[in-house]
Amino acid sequence: MLEIEMPKAKDKILIVEDEEAIRDMLGYALMKEGYECSEANDVEEARNNLQTSRPNLILLDWMLPGMSGIDYAKRLRMVPDTRDIPIIMLTAKGEESDKVRGLETGADDYITKPFSTKELVARVKAVLRRYESDDISELVEVQGLKLDPATYRVTANDTIIDISPTEFKLLHFFISHPERVYSRSQLLDQVWGENVYVEERTVDVHIRRLRKTLEPFAYDQFIQTVRSVGYRFSAK
Ligand code: CA
Repeated sequence: MLEIEMPKAKDKILIVEDEEAIRDMLGYALMKEGYECSEANDVEEARNNLQTSRPNLILLDWMLPGMSGIDYAKRLRMVPDTRDIPIIMLTAKGEESDKVRGLETGADDYITKPFSTKELVARVKAVLRRYESDDISELVEVQGLKLDPATYRVTANDTIIDISPTEFKLLHFFISHPERVYSRSQLLDQVWGENVYVEERTVDVHIRRLRKTLEPFAYDQFIQTVRSVGYRFSAK
């Protein structure tokens, strides 16, 4: 069997902060730690950014021109696509009640200005670690199709399906991100990792294998081709 090495992609962080000096400082500190950063000045820019790439974490300033960071965090939590992106709120407010409010609206952590980059990096790492370990242990299921990442086992109504690690990863990604269309290059980034030189048609090959694997259980129809765009997982 062909073993495919799947190194981890760089974690992407979206920085939403209107103060340029702070934004630069954050970007610099995080890039030095090996993160890939993109920056937004306000919620509108953040939204544009989210349409083209999915960050592993969002650093979100509380006080922004236009929509506040708190309101934006609430909205991010309401949308299935962004619900599971961890958020760290940045704020100048240090009061306990604000902290509680920030966490209630869906932020994962909270950091008060002024802070050191060392503290920030430590918080970012802690939140990402928490999410990554959640991912690994989280069993996903849709209509009797169950994936257990702890054992790399897939079952269809309790019948074990023989599946390769790449197909497993691909299927796990799809089930965790349903109803959304992904291009071949997005799937490569998400499933294979960004620094891997794999041709886009490799994705088609694995999609074909995955469908074949799922076909006896009629789950292959969940993997849908979206003409000239890419693929989507839909159980509807
Ligand atoms: Ca601000």
